[in-house]
Amino acid sequence: MKITNPKIKKLLEKFEVISSLEQLSSLAEWDLEVKMPEGAGANRAKALAKTQSLIQKLYLDEEFVALAEEASRDDSLNDYEKAIIRILRRTLYRYYKLPKEFIENFVKTTNESQLAWREARAKNDFSIFEPHLKKIVELNIEEAKLLEYEDHPYDAMLDKFEEDLKTKDVVNYFESIKPHLTEILAYIKKSKKYSSRPHLLEKGEYEQGEVEKLNYKVLDYLQYNKEFLRLDVSTHPFSEGINSKDVRITTRYFGKDFGSTITATMHEFGHALYDMQVDSSLDFTPIGRPTSLILHESQSRFWENIIGRSDEFIKIFTPKYKKLGEAFRTYAKSDYYSYFNSVKPSLIRVEADEITYHFHILIRFEIEKMLIEKSISVADLPAIWNEKYKKYLGIKPKTNKEGVLQDIHWSMGCIGYFPTYSMGTVLSSYWAERIELELNTIPNLIKSEEGIRKIQSWLKENIHQHGAGYTMKELLNSKFRTEYTITPWVKYINKKYRALY
Ligand code: MG
Repeated sequence: MKITNPKIKKLLEKFEVISSLEQLSSLAEWDLEVKMPEGAGANRAKALAKTQSLIQKLYLDEEFVALAEEASRDDSLNDYEKAIIRILRRTLYRYYKLPKEFIENFVKTTNESQLAWREARAKNDFSIFEPHLKKIVELNIEEAKLLEYEDHPYDAMLDKFEEDLKTKDVVNYFESIKPHLTEILAYIKKSKKYSSRPHLLEKGEYEQGEVEKLNYKVLDYLQYNKEFLRLDVSTHPFSEGINSKDVRITTRYFGKDFGSTITATMHEFGHALYDMQVDSSLDFTPIGRPTSLILHESQSRFWENIIGRSDEFIKIFTPKYKKLGEAFRTYAKSDYYSYFNSVKPSLIRVEADEITYHFHILIRFEIEKMLIEKSISVADLPAIWNEKYKKYLGIKPKTNKEGVLQDIHWSMGCIGYFPTYSMGTVLSSYWAERIELELNTIPNLIKSEEGIRKIQSWLKENIHQHGAGYTMKELLNSKFRTEYTITPWVKYINKKYRALY
């Protein structure tokens, strides 16, 4: 048992009601994306908003706050019990500092701007979205003020998604990865193989039913727990952890690119495994769900890239890929390997390869930082966006739809979210290095059921079981005696792509 302190236990009894409402809200959000009839949107939004106010009321309940304060003064708390106080303090701080009117305005603005974004994207017209985005940027700046962020207002936005992550950390991070990315991309572009696109990208027309079956074969191979996890279909793949015994993932089927549905499934499986392997005694507590988005993305990217795009995994699955249809039969393992790992600058972030992906994030980070520092205005975005794509990737979008309007995040009010995608991806190489050091090589491990189980137990033991018990920085410092590091990732991309190209 991770939680034994009687004061914390008393506090948690009350928290179980909050947790129940939060869990049911997650379920309603999953339903909204996956099963809800289209016309139910407005009522669902209202029900979710009302539930959210009720949750806020329960957090601010005098008796609950008093119990939390009393427990926080107990100096015999263990790490998990301290973490419960840490997470509650974070939530309460926001509720105390942000007036109800501000929160309501934020919700209203982002609801409206999501609709505007959809319309702007469909009509390829940035001017429809522009006034909404302007308001979102202003609200984010106001929020940073209300939360009393003094060093850099963007810190407030980062902290919403990654506790304690600072603007200067992200600046340093991108400064450190940039030269490696530029160097390896230049190397790849000089290779003879670069100009020949894998045929599979053009010819891989598939039948959805066959790829659906394949998705379950992949999940079976990863020994997914059918009792606690289900797979569905949605426009954008995602994972929803309701509690450790109820996790839902989605994938999507479109176009010729069968690989993108397989990699999406493996990506979301990585997220789901994290949620499922949190110690179940933490269910219904504030730390029962992992909160670090960097840690979370390091798990999804580990299964998607380090395993799913590896030579060994593709070797194991080649016979199954060949059965996808007539066109697939003639390809060899090496064709599938270059198909899954082909590097080419492209305009759309979610379709990017392992190398160019980071430039997509860097561009968004640079733009967000300038917007918050007020050194550029929203009206200049399309031009700045295109300039940066030219500068970093050598290509330029022809339309705003495939440029500045492509991502939903800003319309949802999420500024400061993107850096976690890149930093999490890079961190996944650190886990691979540790696993190879402590267990066996990844190719050897993924050959067998037992090896896959060993990887999962290692992740559970070292990362998953703790839930939100530690921040990303704390986990690395106290459990691994290290700071966040890019070194294993630099080795990984160089070894992999210098061999391939
Ligand atoms: Mg993800």
